[in-house]
Amino acid sequence: MILHLPDLVHEMGHILIHHLLDVRVTAFCDHYKRCREIVDQHYRHQLANRRTSGGPNDYFRLEAHLRQQWLDKWLEEIVCDLFAVFVLGPPFVWAHCHLAAKQCKHIFSFSHDQVTTHPADDARMKAMLAQSLACLVMPGIRSGKTQRTIQNGKRNRSRFGDGGLS
Ligand SMILES: [Zn+2]
Repeated sequence: MILHLPDLVHEMGHILIHHLLDVRVTAFCDHYKRCREIVDQHYRHQLANRRTSGGPNDYFRLEAHLRQQWLDKWLEEIVCDLFAVFVLGPPFVWAHCHLAAKQCKHIFSFSHDQVTTHPADDARMKAMLAQSLACLVMPGIRSGKTQRTIQNGKRNRSRFGDGGLS
């Protein structure tokens, strides 16, 4: 499968995660590590619930398999997709949709017991569309202005009260 030109930006995300020890990408790598911790916590909680709730062992094995897949491969793919959306904007989502359509795979499919390198295209598209919508609705999100605006708003609410909003 030949990738499209926008996919190079996705591949750059992998390089940032694995090969650069540059202080300019420390924040990116720190956020990636934090995402891994959140995914790990989620599945640890799920697995603990499965142990105590009983039910078929197949559910527990599937949950353990999904945890390993997300931590080993899938989260990195989603983060690289989001990096590409951050750099290129919503057109990357279209490029990925085109690539997925060319592959003619079932967009919801994933193996319940085999190791795969990429999550289901449905999961990838949902993450990219959510990121794209965030960029469109809050254009400052790409420049960091939105975060500063939110922080300023919180600072002002704490200084002047929140007017009954919570
Ligand atoms: Zn990738």
